[in-house]
Amino acid sequence: MADAKTLNDMFIDMLKDVYYAEKQILRTLPKMAKAAKSQELKAAFEKHRDETEGQIERLAQVFEIAGKAARGKTCDAILGIIEEGKAVMEDYAGSPAMDAGLLAAAQAVEHYEIARYGTLKAWAGQLGLKDAVGLLDQTLTEESKTDEALSKLAAGSVNESAMAKAA
Ligand code: FE
Ligand code: FE
Ligand code: FE
Repeated sequence: MADAKTLNDMFIDMLKDVYYAEKQILRTLPKMAKAAKSQELKAAFEKHRDETEGQIERLAQVFEIAGKAARGKTCDAILGIIEEGKAVMEDYAGSPAMDAGLLAAAQAVEHYEIARYGTLKAWAGQLGLKDAVGLLDQTLTEESKTDEALSKLAAGSVNESAMAKAA
């Protein structure tokens, strides 16, 4: 029988998953910023792109605390969510509804991250990795704030503009 895996193994596996996901997100946000028509939405994507760099750095620190090399492992979930975002960009190119679709795709990303960082923070606590809890909590807060900012943009103007007829 294989060695019994532990919560620590699962914690490292999930760290690798999120590390991979954040790197994919870092590459995708500039494309979404470019595609967005609303200046506010563009700015929100650009701001979060910069935050994502810091989040990757924090994950590297968490790997170090856990005594492991920082390494990514394919996250099928983020690839799927990004694929859906790409479909929006292709299918709604030139449509006033494009921004609403981009915003929805971005919120799917944030919700995935919020789920992951919530779990990682809880597991780090369980494993007694106090400094890791603090780092993971900082990122969790950034993801939640991004999600809230996107909700405000949706309610404020983006969904309204999406109702307009194509020019
Ligand atoms: Fe992130
Ligand atoms: Fe994943
Ligand atoms: Fe995020």
